[in-house]
Amino acid sequence: MKLKATLLLGLLCTAAAVSAQSDDGIMRMSEFAYPTKRAHVHIPPVNGYQVLKCDFHMHTVFTDGHVWPNVRVQEAWKEGLDAISFTEHMEYNPYHEDVKVDHDRSHDLAVELAKRQNIVLVKGTEVTRGTPPGHFNALFIQDASQLVEDNDSAKDQEAIDRVVQQNAFIFWNHPGWQVNNIPGSYEWIDFVDNMYKAGNLHGIEVVNGLGFHKKAMDWAIDRDLTIIGNTDIHNLIAHSYDIEREGVHRTMTLVMSKDRSAAGIREALEAGRTVAWSSNYLFGKQEHVKNLVDACLELSPAYHEQTNQKTNVTTKYYELTNTSDLYFELVLKQGEGTKRLVLYPESSQILTAPANQEKLTYEIVSTYVRSDQHLSYDIELD
Ligand SMILES: [Zn+2]
Ligand SMILES: [Zn+2]
Repeated sequence: MKLKATLLLGLLCTAAAVSAQSDDGIMRMSEFAYPTKRAHVHIPPVNGYQVLKCDFHMHTVFTDGHVWPNVRVQEAWKEGLDAISFTEHMEYNPYHEDVKVDHDRSHDLAVELAKRQNIVLVKGTEVTRGTPPGHFNALFIQDASQLVEDNDSAKDQEAIDRVVQQNAFIFWNHPGWQVNNIPGSYEWIDFVDNMYKAGNLHGIEVVNGLGFHKKAMDWAIDRDLTIIGNTDIHNLIAHSYDIEREGVHRTMTLVMSKDRSAAGIREALEAGRTVAWSSNYLFGKQEHVKNLVDACLELSPAYHEQTNQKTNVTTKYYELTNTSDLYFELVLKQGEGTKRLVLYPESSQILTAPANQEKLTYEIVSTYVRSDQHLSYDIELD
């Protein structure tokens, strides 16, 4: 009898809970819905600068992309990016019979959503010349309707001059993209050299999508160009990157900025404080990669010592911690100690080293400071 009463009470409570949601004849099964959440990509500040996660190259249906502009903002929010830029082709509009050509439209359509979702939306465009010279992105433009649409090579220079007139930050995109089709295109060509000498080339895409353009890396280092990494995404990010898998992220540019604003990003880009991040790798100028690694890795004091009775060698034990969501792989080059250390995101490894050494020198093989050179990194021991 008592059991029945309890059961009845239970049924009444359930009924009350359901009726409180006012049954409208639809049972909503949210179990399979994607949870609404913005991911956190944790990278600690570097010398007082915030490390902003930016993607400065993407397309929407307003040129040859497959998505509406707001989808790009939503993707960026979900993945924890700070800043993006729509860089529609000025000279290539394959959907012009279906989507009215308006070079400012994708940006304008997404401005308010970007504000509401706390994404910095930088106004940009892709100057899409024949190859060579190829494609250039121009960021911080004001009015894309004033730019050159005609892709006649006689107008190549004018196309650049127009974005220069808008005081754009300009970088050369995917320099090697036609290496197998157009001989001589993956070279430091005269057109680019003239832009560079005139002060109109500020950066270079060292990583485009999942391709590391090795020559571009060395040009960036030798000519002090800002290192950029972008997706150049046309489809959904989730169709090209396995982003549901832990640790997977889109290609992006890490910008060391004094604040989280378009002005801060611009200052940092002009100063060259960037590192491109793609797959497990970081690409950047030695100084910036080193500063980033310094901010992310922490060595504990030695927490244990052990002396081998036969050799009388004392080995010290340390913990090396990666406080970031980046990935580091270290290979020992000088000194005696743990030969290889893999530091997964937000994790630690044990480092052992015989006592009486001041430092160990590692090569961080998950970084590139030139096309054929990793960062050499000293770990000071106590
Ligand atoms: Zn392009
Ligand atoms: Zn593009």
